[in-house]
Amino acid sequence: MAKIKKVLIANRGEIALRIIRACKELEIGSVAIFSEVDVEGIWVRKADECYPIMGDLIQAYLDYDRIISIAKKADCDAIHPGYGFLSENADFARACEENGIIFIGPKPEHIELFGDKMASKVAMKKVGVPVLEGTDEPVVSIHEGEKVAREIGFPVIIKAAFGGGGRGMRIVKAEKDFKEMFESATNESMKYFGRDEVFIEKYVENPRHIEIQVIADKYGNVLHLGERDCSIQRRHQKVIEIAPSPRLNNETRKELYRIATKAMFKLGYESVGTVEFLVDAQDNIYFIEMNTRVQVEHPVTETITGVDIIQRMIEIAEGDKLQFLQEEIQFRGYAIEFRINAENPQKNFMPGTGTVSKYLTPGGPGVRLDTSIYTGYKVPANYDSMIGKLIVWALTWEGAVKKAKRALDEFYIEGFPTNIPLHREIVRDEDFINGTFNTSYLDKKMEIFT
Ligand code: ADP
Repeated sequence: MAKIKKVLIANRGEIALRIIRACKELEIGSVAIFSEVDVEGIWVRKADECYPIMGDLIQAYLDYDRIISIAKKADCDAIHPGYGFLSENADFARACEENGIIFIGPKPEHIELFGDKMASKVAMKKVGVPVLEGTDEPVVSIHEGEKVAREIGFPVIIKAAFGGGGRGMRIVKAEKDFKEMFESATNESMKYFGRDEVFIEKYVENPRHIEIQVIADKYGNVLHLGERDCSIQRRHQKVIEIAPSPRLNNETRKELYRIATKAMFKLGYESVGTVEFLVDAQDNIYFIEMNTRVQVEHPVTETITGVDIIQRMIEIAEGDKLQFLQEEIQFRGYAIEFRINAENPQKNFMPGTGTVSKYLTPGGPGVRLDTSIYTGYKVPANYDSMIGKLIVWALTWEGAVKKAKRALDEFYIEGFPTNIPLHREIVRDEDFINGTFNTSYLDKKMEIFT
């Protein structure tokens, strides 16, 4: 296969910059795109070339015919979709192929399969992955749903089959609430994903969210890059991610690695991906979903392994073999990532925008900052509120927590509220320091924080 010479980055913000950096280090060209409100985006300046796309909303970055035509005009041989937007759109991946452009990601059929949470549970179950009891088909009526829920036993969770980002999900503790929750799950799914298929599965009380980063080439070599603990969530959305998990016993850890890599091998997966699991208090393991893209939290894995996930993803797409064996991947120390959001934790996390008037960034040993903001930058209100990620690393968990305290204290952004003060409280909380947290931790602690 031919080497990739120029990549169009079909994304914006910190991930666009991250991909440009990977391209520069690989000495390949980078082409940025930007919507009408993103003219001042830092990725626009850092790429070798840039092209405007019409519109100012999310739609601009979803207009794939236009994006492919820009890629052709700019002579790009590949497109990196980043995360969100077109990253898990199988039609887009196919359209790239049809136009002779390499889609930097998995095969369209895998994007399609894993885009449907229900179908992916069925497929994973077939290759020996433990899944939660639940429906294999969309639940068409409230009556049918209630019947299934009774059989499974409450509490259950109703989930949008094509959902994501914690949306279209409702926990039902008792039968009397089923109708209301079913309606709100289907309505939310329709609103955000344009389809209303939902399924039901057993709700696990207070689990940990542990996910395995996998990396696979086109020749059947499937490796893992360890786990990430993403249990610190607000309303089912990740806020802090940690690698490795500070309180996972080694047997469970190894079992998760084994299950994830075996399944990806059997399904013929290629590129990078993340197999997400819930682990309950008794260390039972349940697959919940597979993400067929690079994830927001990939830097913690890069930090503890030294593997540049985006660079390797590009090489896999151009047909390279993985250059290392599983035994050669070494895990060193602990990394913690804090998602920095332009939102006000004291006002129900209302997203806030504005211009960065003063900006002091943390630095020093063991600190990485992936962000697209700078002094004078006006954060547009049109997109996600995440404006960057702070990643810290130390040899021990205790050291990483101390590093996090120090780095968060150094971080100063003036112009709009951010969730940095909340992160400062979390890293001082005893349960966080002791590693005794699960997915309910933050929603519970919000009552005492700030
Ligand atoms: P999304 O794609 O919207 O992120 P996921 O299926 O990955 O949805 O789940 C997100 C989070 O929701 C999980 O990390 C967990 O906290 C919670 N969750 C999902 N399914 C269950 C379940 N069956 N039991 C308990 N919590 C769940």
